[in-house]
Amino acid sequence: MTNGTLRVLPLGGLGEIGKNMMVVEYGGRIVVVDTGLMFPAPDQLGIDLVLPDFTYLRERAEDIDAIVLTHGHEDHVGALPFVLRELESAPPVYGGPLTAAMVRSKLDEHRLKDAEVRDVLATQTFEAGPFSIEMVKMAHSIPDSFAVAITTELGTMLMTGDYKFDQTPVDGVPADVARLAELGREGLLLLCGDSTNADRQGMSPSESSVGPRLREVFARCRGRIVVTCFASNIHRVQQVVDAAAALDRRVSLIGRSMRKNTNIGRMLGHIDVPEGMLVGPKEIEDFPDDKLVIISTGSQGEPLSALRRMAHGDHPNVDLHDGDTVIFSATPIPGNERAVNETIDRIYRLGANVITPSDVPVHASGHGYAEELKLMINLTRPRYVMPVHGDHRRLRLHSELAEAVGVPPKSIFRGENGLPLEIDASGARFGAREQAGLIFVDGVEVGDIEDVALRDRRMLSADGIFIVVATISEQDGRSVVPPEIIFRGVPFVEESDSFVDELREAVDGSLAHSAEEEISEIDLVQDHLHDDVAEFVYERLKRRPMILPVVVEV
Ligand SMILES: [Zn+2]
Ligand SMILES: [Zn+2]
Repeated sequence: MTNGTLRVLPLGGLGEIGKNMMVVEYGGRIVVVDTGLMFPAPDQLGIDLVLPDFTYLRERAEDIDAIVLTHGHEDHVGALPFVLRELESAPPVYGGPLTAAMVRSKLDEHRLKDAEVRDVLATQTFEAGPFSIEMVKMAHSIPDSFAVAITTELGTMLMTGDYKFDQTPVDGVPADVARLAELGREGLLLLCGDSTNADRQGMSPSESSVGPRLREVFARCRGRIVVTCFASNIHRVQQVVDAAAALDRRVSLIGRSMRKNTNIGRMLGHIDVPEGMLVGPKEIEDFPDDKLVIISTGSQGEPLSALRRMAHGDHPNVDLHDGDTVIFSATPIPGNERAVNETIDRIYRLGANVITPSDVPVHASGHGYAEELKLMINLTRPRYVMPVHGDHRRLRLHSELAEAVGVPPKSIFRGENGLPLEIDASGARFGAREQAGLIFVDGVEVGDIEDVALRDRRMLSADGIFIVVATISEQDGRSVVPPEIIFRGVPFVEESDSFVDELREAVDGSLAHSAEEEISEIDLVQDHLHDDVAEFVYERLKRRPMILPVVVEV
């Protein structure tokens, strides 16, 4: 017996789907499980990303022994660069090999090359302060998905991460049910389980059920096939490649993250794409339509994604037309429905056909359904249960499932972001509320919650304004005269400064980059210019003046 208290404080992921972040505390030390983000709602104009408010971590930076990542999805790893940048002494980060590889590449992009990211394998145990941490293999819609068992003197708690119990996963290695049962026999103190599909009855279909459906649909297509799915769903990409091969079609990967993730997946042996199978983006238009499958990003209707640009007739390599079939091998995340429907309708307008999971089951969820959540509780027999990863309705439904399999209601805790669950030898209860909430990220800026007008005025008064007027050629999008830079109220900058010349070069660089990417929509060129100039100015001045790009075509 010990006098210690285990504190489990969710900073994100409860009462919402997204931005998962859990602080596990014992003896004054901390392990953080997941550092996720959320994409903004359509009405949050001018906001690029939503992060959990991690003030708590900033104040306790010295006490953090490890950050553990369950898997590589953005709602679990996306906030990591922002968290690491803000912590004075950055703790080591642990994740499966794929998670670690994806995170390293992300940290590189944020120029955080010093961060220490360590690979851990399933069944591997490591020590961090007073915690002993074990990764347990689970099945989900991305390889290397782990549950995390954290043991202190008080006992063991299990964060399931995102999971399903897939008996026939594409990689042939199902969840480690034996280890979960063993944890149950050893006596599990607390289970924090994924609630995403608590509202769906029965068992989720196996990922490997998708391949045969794809093949059937492919067999009926006469023209070109475009399949869109999450770039991180490497097992799905594998099944698309296999279905294409079975029907003697070659494959082209479209979208930066699709190529990047497939490359990382190939390097780590998660996906097998025969060398001669791939067709480069530039060869697409000359390739016979009935011999090609294009795998594209954009299944969520994301504004700058490859599929969205195809749907707008604005993709440099793919012109959708009559006879093409676009298959959505994904369902919209809540909040993205409108963007997805709009994309679908645009595709119809171009004359192509669309197939979604409501037409044919060409998608399988990565999250277990109700019977699987019950199975998890029956296997691990936890003393306490705190459902996570769900909106309030799903947390409630998950609680009801726990009750149905015999967990006493007083042992089930329906938590909220900022509300710590405190467990000691005498029992469990919620403690005093801590700061939690949202942080909005606008380009490179991490700010507090403010409406856009307020933010604009604050930026103007503190850091001034840059107006960048660029004139580009209608033919090739390149800058035709030196850009004009007008600024007001920017501290420490004079007209004669070499900084202004360098800024002009940065503007030309940004325009040249957009031209290379063959971006022709003026709005997009301006967006990129805004982001590039904001980043350049911040790097040089450590200030965030308002940036107003004006691009004129001649
Ligand atoms: Zn996930
Ligand atoms: Zn998730």
